Parts: sequence; C-alpha cells; structure tokens
Amino acid sequence: MKQTADAVIIGGGCMGASVAWHLAQRGMTNVVLIEREPQLAAGSTGKNAGGVRHQFSHPANIDLSIESIAMMARFEEVVGTPIDFHQDGYLFLLSKAAHVATFLKNVQLQKSRGVDVQWRSPKEAQALAPGLDVTGVKGATYCAADGVADPNGVTVGFAKGAQAKGVEIVRNTEVTGIRVDHNRVTEVRTARGNIATPLVVNAAGPWAKSIGRMLGVDVPVEPERRHIFIASPPGGGSWDDTGNAGRVPTNKLLVIDFDSTFYFHREGGGLLFGKGDPDEQPGFDITVRWDFLPKVIEVAMQRLPALADAAVSHAWAGLYEMTPDHNPIIGPAADVAGFYTIAGFSGHGFQHAPAAGRILADVITGRDPKFDLSPFALDRFSRRTTVAEANVV
Ligand SMILES: Cc1cc2nc3c(=O)[nH]c(=O)nc-3n(C[C@H](O)[C@H](O)[C@H](O)COP(=O)(O)OP(=O)(O)OC[C@H]3O[C@@H](n4cnc5c(N)ncnc54)[C@H](O)[C@@H]3O)c2cc1C
Repeated sequence: MKQTADAVIIGGGCMGASVAWHLAQRGMTNVVLIEREPQLAAGSTGKNAGGVRHQFSHPANIDLSIESIAMMARFEEVVGTPIDFHQDGYLFLLSKAAHVATFLKNVQLQKSRGVDVQWRSPKEAQALAPGLDVTGVKGATYCAADGVADPNGVTVGFAKGAQAKGVEIVRNTEVTGIRVDHNRVTEVRTARGNIATPLVVNAAGPWAKSIGRMLGVDVPVEPERRHIFIASPPGGGSWDDTGNAGRVPTNKLLVIDFDSTFYFHREGGGLLFGKGDPDEQPGFDITVRWDFLPKVIEVAMQRLPALADAAVSHAWAGLYEMTPDHNPIIGPAADVAGFYTIAGFSGHGFQHAPAAGRILADVITGRDPKFDLSPFALDRFSRRTTVAEANVV
C-alpha cells in the first residue's frame, strides 16, 4: 500500500468506485481506494435491487438520474466493461387520492426536465404487468426509460477502469482514523499502516457517520435494514415455463405499489420482491427476519396473486443509508479542509453513482460540475434548508 497519495477514498461500493474512476479520468491517479471487506460492493451496493428510475420528486434527483441512466446505457463504450442493463420501465401504482395528486405534479416536473413519464389508467397498468391485480388502484405512472442494472458490474467496471489508470485499490483493510492538523486533513490511518494525504473522500455508505466522527464532522447518515426475497413458482422451475404464462411479467419491468411500498421485478427465472418495514429501527443488523416474510406476502399477494403459492427460495437483508431528508450528501465539509462526503443516498444510490461520482470528481479537481449541489450540501441540515425526496420506498 502507498504511503502518500493525493487522495484516499474510503469505501469500495458503487460511490467510491465511481469517484475513483472519474478522478482518474481527470488525471488524478495518485489515489488509493480502501475497502474493509475482502471484495468490492460488499456493503449496500451488493445487496440492492438494481432499480434505476427517473421518477423522483426532487428536481436534483431527476437530474442525477438523467445523467446516470444515460451513462449506464453506454457503460461498456465509456468505461470498457459490459453491464447487465435493461430498460423495461418502472410502474408506480397509486391508490390514495393524495398520492395521485402528488404524482400528477411529479409527472409535470419530470416532463419539464425532458423525461418521458406517462400517466396510465389501472387497466393500462395491468396490460403492462401481466398478473397484476389493480383493485383499488386509481392510476399509475410509467417511464419506459427506467429499468434494472447490475450493481456489481457497475462497481467492478468503475474500479477496474480506475485501476488501469493507476488508482490503487486496497481490500481487506479498515480505515481506523483520520488525522487533522490546523483544520486540514493530513493522514489516513488503517489497520495496515498510514497514508499521508491532503484529501479524503467519505464513501462509506451506511457507515459514513463513523468516518465523520474520526475528525469531528457530523455526517447524519443512519443505517436501516431492508429485505429482499426471491420467489420461484410452485413446484420449482421458472416463471417463464408455459404453465405460468400470464401470472407475472415476462420482462424486467419494476412495479412499485407506492402506498404499501411493495415492489417486484423479474430476476432470472425467479421474481425479486421487497417492502419497507415501518417498524424497523436504525441499526447495522442485517440478519434476515423470516418473521417479516408473512407480512410482506399478505400485502404482496393482493397485488400479485401469483405470490400466494410461490416458494421463497432465498432472502437477504442490506442497509439503506438514510439522511433526515432522504437526499444524499455530496461535497466538502465546511470546517475541515480536504474532507469530502458522497453518502447517504437513502436507498436509491446505486442508480445515482455515475453522475454523483462525476460531480464530486469535478468539485475535487476544481472544475465547474454544472450542477447545483446546494440541495445535497452537508451544511443544509444546520442551515435548516432541506427539501425532502418523497419517492423513497
Ligand atoms: C435491500 C436494498 C435495496 C436497494 N435497492 C436499490 C435500488 O433498487 N436502486 C438503487 O439505486 N439503490 C438501491 N439501494 C440503495 C443502494 O444500494 C445504496 O444507495 C448504494 O449502494 C450506496 O452505495 P455506497 O457506495 O454509498 O455504499 P456501500 O455500497 O455500502 O459502500 C460503502 C463501503 O464502505 C466500506 N467501509 C465502511 N467503513 C469502512 C472503513 N472504516 N474502512 C474501510 N471501508 C469501509 C464498506 O465495507 C462498504 O463496502 C438498495 C439498498 C438496499 C439495502
């Protein structure tokens, strides 16, 4: 491991890897990325559902999506590694009048930024998603350019590209401290030695708060467990088998029942689904709570009756990285020179990694990011100028 570097990135998830790649593209290659686990994407990134969508309520998130999804569509050409990427659309189902009103406004906002999002009747929603029960649904929004991508592929693609340009990637190594002299970052301490550096990027996802604590900066990110379940059809096999025709979608359309937060999409021959748990408290425990499954199934089978007799073949849990307004923190700390954060994406970060990494790399290298970062500034919480993202499930 190097003993001096122009920058040290803490965290080898999609954010850390994206920042590393974008810094290297800008000629900043004397960089070390440090990951505690034996492999990259072992944190939230490796646990996520892969959904990518333009359908956000905050204009800054819509803009992050427009740039990120465009980059994912050309990932192999730009970064040099193929990724599994499907633009089969996202369908939000709305049953409450208040949500209908908000989403109608959101559609106008999304369209005003150039995104083609359409309003769909319950019948039209059903036609898009075979097997869907639309009882009680008042309307839906659909964006055909939304989709599903492979989080591991994106992370490893960025990391390999950065490495090829000279960035050092160190695994199995925990950052244990950060030294600050006269309000400037001067050194990163790890279990395997120290690195003298004037610049640190906190890309530690759900653990971002603990990195901030190392130098007395409050980074308000709280971990929150979320489950994902995989269902096979009764008797095994694939949902594509002829006996299951019409029971579930045949493509990777991602459907979200916004009121209950139940969502699903096809994953190989199976079906991936999940739902938020309103009783979940902040914490780092990612043990699968199998007693939560019946509560999910009860809601899920009302929207997708095929799940009533499906076999849940496996499950995992990962951590959302929640901020108080469900928007990320991107940019410098006001009080310590050389300390930057890119974290707190509140359960929708994978899809924003390409643009967020580009923007932070521009800021670090003194370029104009051409993006108003004030909604994502760390000091917005103390200034009390937050505007929350509403489309978090
Ligand atoms: C169940 C689930 C479903 C999700 N679905 C979606 C989705 O459909 N679409 C979407 O866009 N997002 C989704 N997300 C959110 C998405 O996964 C996260 O927003 C994103 O992965 C955050 O990436 P990250 O790089 O910031 O964090 P992480 O991937 O957690 O990376 C942080 C890394 O920092 C390392 N680290 C921490 N502390 C230290 C230290 N002291 N020293 C060294 N290394 C350290 C960790 O080991 C970890 O690998 C989902 C998340 C979950 C849990």
